[in-house]
Amino acid sequence: MSAAKPDSRSKLLIVANRLPITLHDDLSQSTKSSGGLVAALEGVDTDQYDVKWIGWPGRDLPADRQPEATRFLQEKYAATPVFMSAEEQQGFYEGYSNSSLWPLLHYMPTRFRHEAAWWRAYQDVNQRFADAVLAEASEGDAVWVHDYQLMLVPQMIKAARPSLRVGFFLHTPFPSYEVFRYLPQRNELVAGLLGADLIGFHTYGYMRHYRSCALRLLGLEAEISTIRHESRTTHLGVYPIGINAAKFNQQMDSPEHAEHHAALAKNHAGMKIVLSVERMDYTKGILHRLDAIDLFLEQQRPEQRDTVRFIFIGVPSREGVAEYQELRDEVEGRVGRLNGKYATLHNSPVLFIHGSVAFADLCAMYELADVCMVTPLIDGMNLVAKEFVACQRNCRERSYCGVLVLSEFAGAAVELHSAVVVNPHDQQAVADALRDALEMPLEERCERMEAMRERVMQHDARTWAKQFINDLATHAPVPEVPHPIGEATTLLRAAIADPNRRVALFLDYDGTLREIERDPAAAGPNAGVIALLDRLVKQRNVDTTIVSGRVSADLQRWLGHYPFGLVAEHGASIRRPGSETWENLADTLDFRWKDEVLPLLRNYSDSTPGTTVEVKSTGLVWHYRRADPEFGQWKAKALTEELSNFTANLPVHVRHGRKIVEVAAASVNKANAVMRILSETQVEMGHGYDVMLCAGDDLTDESMFQIQRDNLLTVKVGIADTRATYRVADPGAFRAMLMECLGS
Ligand code: UDP
Repeated sequence: MSAAKPDSRSKLLIVANRLPITLHDDLSQSTKSSGGLVAALEGVDTDQYDVKWIGWPGRDLPADRQPEATRFLQEKYAATPVFMSAEEQQGFYEGYSNSSLWPLLHYMPTRFRHEAAWWRAYQDVNQRFADAVLAEASEGDAVWVHDYQLMLVPQMIKAARPSLRVGFFLHTPFPSYEVFRYLPQRNELVAGLLGADLIGFHTYGYMRHYRSCALRLLGLEAEISTIRHESRTTHLGVYPIGINAAKFNQQMDSPEHAEHHAALAKNHAGMKIVLSVERMDYTKGILHRLDAIDLFLEQQRPEQRDTVRFIFIGVPSREGVAEYQELRDEVEGRVGRLNGKYATLHNSPVLFIHGSVAFADLCAMYELADVCMVTPLIDGMNLVAKEFVACQRNCRERSYCGVLVLSEFAGAAVELHSAVVVNPHDQQAVADALRDALEMPLEERCERMEAMRERVMQHDARTWAKQFINDLATHAPVPEVPHPIGEATTLLRAAIADPNRRVALFLDYDGTLREIERDPAAAGPNAGVIALLDRLVKQRNVDTTIVSGRVSADLQRWLGHYPFGLVAEHGASIRRPGSETWENLADTLDFRWKDEVLPLLRNYSDSTPGTTVEVKSTGLVWHYRRADPEFGQWKAKALTEELSNFTANLPVHVRHGRKIVEVAAASVNKANAVMRILSETQVEMGHGYDVMLCAGDDLTDESMFQIQRDNLLTVKVGIADTRATYRVADPGAFRAMLMECLGS
């Protein structure tokens, strides 16, 4: 007998383009890196989660070696590799990720390049990542997908397994809609992220842009931090990533650090050091910085020039992409010219290192620098700025403190207020900031640094990951319903199979029987709906009523030839089973309030281009589907509020629905319509139904789910919160369930 599983912790699957392990030909020589994400996840509560990784292991392997490597990585590192060929890597990574997406995410449309094959590779590789997740994940696990290379993965996972909890974090900026819309696949990418239950960004600005794209491109409804779609909700949040603070502290406490610091201090004795550290990327503003330095040096007296040394550490990056090769050539050329212009026998002002430096040297340089210049044209966060701050310890005791000159376009600027913040496009301002930083009195340096350091050390990578994972845990992807759908199927099937029992079905149409279409006029019955309705007609002991919010004309046109009961406008008018005529149930109600409310709605449609007012028999509807999505939503909120006050003493309710604001008679709702039909048929038949079923997908259907009757089954279609007892995923699943009950 096998032993019981020792613990039942959930898995936390971290899905990132790159595994923190590099495979070696000799597997046992493979190495683990200690990147920021690895450090961040060290803070995860291991009582709660088993952390597992899914990603590319840094190299291709022949197919016959892949199973062995997979076993090795899983056993030794709890990591599952996603392999890709050199060609796929080129299309997916260098192509679509770094030549199409990266420039646009960083507001550089002139660098944007696109090839159809790259997009195909991006889709294929994203699907492979999603498949790896699906193979690994069990019920109750959480998945955390990272960064712009994997934007389609959340949706791919969710489509296959809606109950999996999925988070996504974007490590880059998210640009304004005006730039993001350049991408031919903008809709697919925005929708891809929406598969997540929680999407995290570094700053509120990026989050706002994403939300705006979802609104504008997909026509969705959104609040400040939530987006509603297909009856699910995606939450948005701001989580500025931090650094591995403990690692920097540990290094600086080591005797090795003191040695490195002393050696470097000796090399640069008597010099003011201005440090820059970055990947060689056009977003980092290296050329702009060199121009500002040129201006600064030009404005210094010659003897002053000899006391400043600019150290550029340019870490090689993406050298397979043409733009990056050109940047390197350009930087080397400019550095040469600068040195040619300003070098003397005593000093050569710019020291450019094209390569990585060891962590120990990096810390020593951070500590030694008088100024750290972090002036990207744009940067999601920029960890170098935070690392520099972390290394400026005990400034007052050592009477020495560095100054951070920081671009306002780095995400870090939102947190590091007391840096000297500059606009990297303003060369003179950068040159002035540099001069001010070098001349800044010690007291001011210390004051600025202490404030920043407290923030950086407290909000480190671990707290970042913890916060995101905790928030993800609170957003249940699918709220639970009391019973499994199989139970309803069994009960209904048994009732239908018995000719002596009578069954009533009350079925919503849009989103329940029929999949939602973006254009409501396009949602006529499809083959699946027709097959089901044709079958229902033949079932003599089943009475079917379609209960819809649509106007009677729609229902008559699409379903009028069936002998079913039809309920239109949420119960305002009814066509009884077998009858040809519609009865307006609202005839007996007082609708004088319409005359009072209509002018207000007309006012809103006049002042909001693209909106219209619809006058229904039981209510008034303001439609804003064709308005500017953000303006429309803003006006809709204002209208809802104004209407709520205005109609406080009227017999109406005000509802802000999907791209509509509706004022309707309070007594008109689906539940009242269903109750009326039930009591009429009870009188006719002399007894009630043996089994009844109400099914629906949206808020207006919830009233039906609150009807108190024995033998009433309530089914929610979709995954939003509900009072129904049973749930199915979508209209297709619901039709299949009914077909099964009908014995088809
Ligand atoms: N870094 C590195 N090797 C070096 C110098 C720096 O790996 O030789 C690290 C640096 O410590 C920082 C990271 O590279 O953690 C750069 O992160 P940042 O957020 O500044 O920019 P990104 O490269 O993510 O655009």
